[in-house]
Amino acid sequence: MSRRDYYEILGVERQADAGQLKSAYRRLALQHHPDRNPNDPAAAEHFKEASEAYAVLSDPEKRARFDRFGHAGVGSSPGGGFGFDPSSFDLSDLFGEIFGGLGGGGGGGPSPGSDLMYRMEISFSDAAYGVEAPLVLSRLERCATCQGSGAEKGTKPKTCPACRGAGRQRFSQGFLTVTRPCGNCRGEGKIIEKPCGDCEGEGRRRESRDLKIRIPAGVETGSRLRLSGEGDAGANAGARGDLYVVLTVADHDVFAREGDDIVLLLEVPFPTLVLGGEMTVPTLEDPEKISIPPGTRVGSEIRLRGKGFGRLGQRGRGDLVVRASVLVPASPSHAEKDALRQYAEMTGAPVEPRGVLGKAKKIFS
Ligand SMILES: [Zn+2]
Ligand SMILES: [Zn+2]
Repeated sequence: MSRRDYYEILGVERQADAGQLKSAYRRLALQHHPDRNPNDPAAAEHFKEASEAYAVLSDPEKRARFDRFGHAGVGSSPGGGFGFDPSSFDLSDLFGEIFGGLGGGGGGGPSPGSDLMYRMEISFSDAAYGVEAPLVLSRLERCATCQGSGAEKGTKPKTCPACRGAGRQRFSQGFLTVTRPCGNCRGEGKIIEKPCGDCEGEGRRRESRDLKIRIPAGVETGSRLRLSGEGDAGANAGARGDLYVVLTVADHDVFAREGDDIVLLLEVPFPTLVLGGEMTVPTLEDPEKISIPPGTRVGSEIRLRGKGFGRLGQRGRGDLVVRASVLVPASPSHAEKDALRQYAEMTGAPVEPRGVLGKAKKIFS
């Protein structure tokens, strides 16, 4: 066995970090890998040497001992007797790429189903009060015909004889042991001789499901609800994924939302602002009468307690805030205009005399 320095073998500096070690080893391993160099003892030896160097240097404790004591510190002695178990050394992350599509197969074990996302638009008032909403979802379900096995009804998948169901095969070449997905069963660990016709041997098939989901009061656009276990069914009896419902709350024609409050901009006739009076306003439920106090200014607010949005995850509700603005008649009659001119004269308000166009700069349009 070679007694070369491990750093020299990998061609790295003594200060090399974990990433540098790994990429140096990866480069050498790819170059000298026995699968690429069949019947080449020199390549096998290089590969073995690089693997040994990497195994020691990638372990901080062994590396520290090697740095202090050299080969003696890590229990490797000339002529063999190397102190690590190659079968415990996981090469799969380094070699995933060489084995291409076969890489990463975990055998025929359960694997969880995918999480799904569903976008849903709800109305303003459903967001305020909460709602139970129907939802039609297309997702993978365990195939009822084959009970998820993927084999035709009345038959069973056979355990793969090549890997005895493990889904991976172990290759030994002298010192080195590498595992990779079983080529016989494509890493599944089992072989289906007659695939189930309903799921084409997948064990799962896409189905449409009618669900009802409970949307709590107080949600807003962008709120995300997680429905545990309502995603795709897992493969080989793996756990189901989750369903995420992402909400968009529609705008309302007359109301705006400010936090948990609903805001209504109410156009109040000028005489009512001055003299006070009752008005009827819409709410999310029945219309309500409110009284406008005399001398109400534009922008002042009247709160209707508890008529707003439910507070998400809490008790209680926000308010309906009625914010006063002034109603300007769109096309006043002659009589209305005359009455306003009289009022303007009494109060000294600057108004255009009848029939004269303004010469001042127009600032409103
Ligand atoms: Zn089936
Ligand atoms: Zn197999």
